[in-house]
Amino acid sequence: MSARAALIEVFHSIQGEGRFVGEPMAFLRVATCPIRCRYCDTPHSYRAGSTFRVEGADPESNPVTAASAAAVVEEVAGRSPFHAAGQPLRVSVTGGEPLVFPDFIVALGEAWGGRTRIHLETAALDPDALRRVLPVLSHLSADYKLPGTLEDGDPRPAHVACLRVAVERADLSIDVKIVLVSGVAREVITQTLDDLSPFADRILLVLQPVTPMGGIVEALPHAELAHWCAAAAGRGFRFRVIPQTHKQLGVE
Ligand code: SF4
Repeated sequence: MSARAALIEVFHSIQGEGRFVGEPMAFLRVATCPIRCRYCDTPHSYRAGSTFRVEGADPESNPVTAASAAAVVEEVAGRSPFHAAGQPLRVSVTGGEPLVFPDFIVALGEAWGGRTRIHLETAALDPDALRRVLPVLSHLSADYKLPGTLEDGDPRPAHVACLRVAVERADLSIDVKIVLVSGVAREVITQTLDDLSPFADRILLVLQPVTPMGGIVEALPHAELAHWCAAAAGRGFRFRVIPQTHKQLGVE
């Protein structure tokens, strides 16, 4: 039997973050996340409902098999104004935290059999789960959460362990996304870039100024952004500053 997962929604839109910003993309948002970030923009994904939203159609029941979810994604993309027929379908598997369901992600890859390109957007705190799904991925967007982002614990060792796993796939494109909040100490910035330096030749550092919302009320001051950029450039990182754009575009 195909692996199952609980979903929040399936829709097709424009990617609003990271190196693929502006690309048409399907989104498969899994339910549940054991992590709690101060800047979370998807708290509605914490709990699974009895059904999940399907753009342009009636809700479907949770949990869903990977084979069924794969078919729903293709149907949704097929009627999307953003999807050009004949173009390869890119699917962002996001959440919530998708690595809660590694078998489901592997089964999605098997169901699509190379017809789609799977982009995994993860908090990157579970290296064992990441290792299981690695063979089916086309792109990885891994968070690097700064100290103080989580309610509990230091995420840095798990982030580094995930990156060690990710770089085993020589052909995998890897974004490391850092949400930049204001007031981060200079030594924390130094430590962050030191942690990531061993991977500098394999990753694109995505510096994402925080979108004020929830418990975050202050936008990133220009001087702090300039310091992040100078520090990253000084260590030889490829980096881009990319804010969340989907809210400006008025898309999901
Ligand atoms: S990992 Fe993602 S879904 Fe979970 S709390 Fe953090 S931002 Fe929200």
